[in-house]
Amino acid sequence: MPYKPGERLPGERASRLGHLEVLKSELVNKLVKNFEEGNANVAIANLKWEPIPSGGELLPIVFGIDGSMQVIDSETPPYKSLAFVKTALLRIDQFALSRIDKDSPHPLALRDILADSALYHATVFPLRHVSIPGQTTYHAIRGIIFESLRDKSLDGEPMETLKWLAYEKWSGNHKQLPLFECPHCEETVATLPYDAETGKCHKCNGDLFLTDMLGFHQEMTTDSAPNTIATNYMSIHEVLLLFTGIRYYWEKRKEILSKCLFVKDGPLAIRAQYSKLVAPIRRFLSFARDQGYPIHIIGQEKSGRFFDHLELIGKNVPEGHIFIPGDEYIKEEIQHRPTSGAPYGKDTNYGAKVFVKINNYHKMVLNIPTGEFVENPTLSNLIGASNIFATLPSILSNRYEGALLPVELANGIASLSTYPSAQILKIFTDARGI
Ligand SMILES: [Zn+2]
Repeated sequence: MPYKPGERLPGERASRLGHLEVLKSELVNKLVKNFEEGNANVAIANLKWEPIPSGGELLPIVFGIDGSMQVIDSETPPYKSLAFVKTALLRIDQFALSRIDKDSPHPLALRDILADSALYHATVFPLRHVSIPGQTTYHAIRGIIFESLRDKSLDGEPMETLKWLAYEKWSGNHKQLPLFECPHCEETVATLPYDAETGKCHKCNGDLFLTDMLGFHQEMTTDSAPNTIATNYMSIHEVLLLFTGIRYYWEKRKEILSKCLFVKDGPLAIRAQYSKLVAPIRRFLSFARDQGYPIHIIGQEKSGRFFDHLELIGKNVPEGHIFIPGDEYIKEEIQHRPTSGAPYGKDTNYGAKVFVKINNYHKMVLNIPTGEFVENPTLSNLIGASNIFATLPSILSNRYEGALLPVELANGIASLSTYPSAQILKIFTDARGI
C-alpha cells in the first residue's frame, strides 16, 4: 500500500454542528457542547509512554516486503472481472541506505539498488465471468493459487516456505497438518502426508493441494470469487516472501539471520481461516529466539484504527518515546468493545502493537513479534527491540510522514499502477478477449 499524504489532525477541528437549526434547542445545544468537548482526548496523561530503548546495534541488512492488488472490470456485459496481484521483496544494506538522499532520492540510485536486489511475483485471478475451459472458477482459482506459489520466477521458494511453516520443518518433529475443510466434500477431514504438496481426500478421493489448507475455497462459489480472494492471496504471499528470506538464512547462514531487519508493509496478522499459519510462525520465532537467534521483524500499519488512534494520542508526547498498548486498552480505547471475550489478536496476530514517536515528523504504528502470545506485552517481550530501534533512524524516509524506506522501495516494485500500468493491463485483458 502506498503512503498516504500527511494527514495530521488539525489542532482544533472546526465545528460541523454549529450551523444546524436544531441548535436552537437548549437541550440539544447542551448535549452537543458536551460531545465537542469530551472524549477527543482519551486519558492521555495516564498512558505509559516510555523512552525508546537504547544500546542496540545497527542491523546491517534490511529487507522490505510489500504487495499490491488491482481488480480490472470490463465495462460492458458480461462484466468480466480479473484481479492482478503483485508482491515484492527487496534487500538493501546499510552502505546503500547511506547513499540514498532521504529527502529526494535520486531515481538512478534507486534503480541500481532495485535492479540488484529485488524479487517480485505476479499472478492473476479470474474472479467473475471469465471462463476457463473445462473448469469452474472455484477449481480454476484453487489451481492458480497452488501453481502461483510454485512460480518458477521465484524457483518455487514460496511453496517451500509454506511447507516449512505448515509442517514446522524447522523443528524436525514431522508435524502433521491440522485437519482442514476438503474443497470437494466440504467436510473437515482433509489432511496430507508430511511434506506433501498434493494428495487425496480419504473420504471423497478428491484432489487436494497444500494451499487448500489455508481455506481460499471457503470464500468462493462455483462460478465466482470475491475480490478478497486476491487480497488474501496477496497477504499470504507477503508473509511467505518474508519467511522465505528468514528460512534461507536459517538453513544456510544462521549467523547472518540475526543481523537482518525484515520490514513488512501492514500488520503482522493473518485473518480468518488463513490464520492457521499464525501458531507455527509464533512457535518458530520463539524457538529461534531461544536458540540464540533473535529474528528482527517489523510490520508497519499505515491505515486503520491503530493508525488513527496514534494521530489522537501522539501529538503531545515527547520525541523518542514508545507506547505498547495492552489487551484492555486496545479493546476499550481503540476497538471500543467490551473487555470480555478472547484476548485481542490471540489467534490472528504474530506481533504486538507498538506506537512509536521518533520525532514530530515520524510517528508510526509498528508490530513487533513476541514469539508466544502475550496479552499485555512489555518492552522485554519484543524480540530484538533494542536492535530494531537502533536501526530505525537509518531507514526513515523524509518523503512521507512516518515513512520507512524499505517499504517505500518495495512498494515501488510491487505497485501495479506503475509496473505495468493499469491501462496496459486493461488493454491486455481486452485484447485477449477473456
Ligand atoms: Zn473430500
